[in-house]
Amino acid sequence: MGTHIDTDLSLADFFFDNSDDPLKPSEEYRSWRERTRWATELYEPNLFGAAGPRVEVRRGDVRVQAINLTSYNYMGLVQHPEVIEAAQRALSHYGTGACGSPLLSGQADLHHELEQKLSTFMGRESTMLFNSGFGGAMGTIAGLLRKGDVAILDARCHLSLIAGANLSRAKTLFFDHNDPASLDALLEQTEGKRRLVVVEGIYSMDGDMADLPRLAEVTRKHRCGIFIDEAHSILAWGEHGRGVVEHFHAEQDVPLVFATFSKSFAAVGGFVSGRRETLEYLRYYSHPYGFSCALPPAVVAGLLKVLEIVTRDGSLRQRLHENTNYFRGRLLEMGLNLGDSTTQVVPIVIGSDRNLLYELCHEMNDRGLFLAPVDYPSVAEDQLRYRAAVTAAHTREDLDQALQIIDDTIVKRLKRT
Ligand code: PMP
Repeated sequence: MGTHIDTDLSLADFFFDNSDDPLKPSEEYRSWRERTRWATELYEPNLFGAAGPRVEVRRGDVRVQAINLTSYNYMGLVQHPEVIEAAQRALSHYGTGACGSPLLSGQADLHHELEQKLSTFMGRESTMLFNSGFGGAMGTIAGLLRKGDVAILDARCHLSLIAGANLSRAKTLFFDHNDPASLDALLEQTEGKRRLVVVEGIYSMDGDMADLPRLAEVTRKHRCGIFIDEAHSILAWGEHGRGVVEHFHAEQDVPLVFATFSKSFAAVGGFVSGRRETLEYLRYYSHPYGFSCALPPAVVAGLLKVLEIVTRDGSLRQRLHENTNYFRGRLLEMGLNLGDSTTQVVPIVIGSDRNLLYELCHEMNDRGLFLAPVDYPSVAEDQLRYRAAVTAAHTREDLDQALQIIDDTIVKRLKRT
């Protein structure tokens, strides 16, 4: 087992693999995977319990108790007894799966109840559920845009949104991250076309928010709608938990909102809320909806319970923000580079040293801090990082222990270099 990796090669180099057979990756790729196993064994981690604030993780042949700063359990509800009970009850009544697509085999009364409750919660006319966040984000864009249209995405948008734009065969343009002038230039250039501007509530690798007040000024000028993916912001931000759109009071400028159930809802799937006319069209043209199985009813029962808990108890969001402010504040005091993060998604940027990225990550994991490496091409080559996800369920003791490990590893090493 090596203890360093080729810093001149990354996954980006093998996307266009030079093998003769698509089922047989090249010798070069296989040899690179073998040589980098020491680093890549940090991926696809194996957990032995719920993705709560503390979790048992496999480290080689042993199990290690670790503080979990990697799972997106933002509201801390992954093990909530009321949610589990609701899901168990639905499991007994409805069985294990929906056994077909919403269009042909239908959805249970629970799905319709969730659609209605989400519409009321979001203050929108209609809501549609997806069995996957990735599929829903991709399928919403691919369902609405066509060849000849233009998708105008923030340059840091998630792969699911880019995949949707590509699948739609619309022209895909990127404006500089959160830059109203860059967006303005693209809208100017595409005047007269059918266009959709796509942003995220909280950017998943950076933890900063869409600058909606300034971006919306530009889209208003060009009379163009914004589609937002609130994957990381739903329930966690806004006075009532409706996300970054609510946080900035930008409802009028954002006619279509998407969010996933995989983060604050601690389950799986996603939903899109907006005008009835938009969604009535989308139900027939968004293929991840019409050509894929509906969410299991037991999952839907859990989602309904999460929505009920979060709407009756604002203290979870308050605790999340208190934890976030404490953790971020302490990291900044240690002199770490957190990029532009202002939220519970906290990147710790270490630069371009790929060996350091994996070495420190091993050290932290060995010491009981479950934190994942984020390498190029997911982020820029000189912006390699760890990305911490703070939750409402972390205690002060959890955060203090995590901070101590970060101080003993990352901070100590960066001071030395
Ligand atoms: N959109 C964004 C912004 C995301 O960060 C993610 C996943 N992290 C997704 C969509 C896909 O969501 P899911 O994991 O629920 O499929």
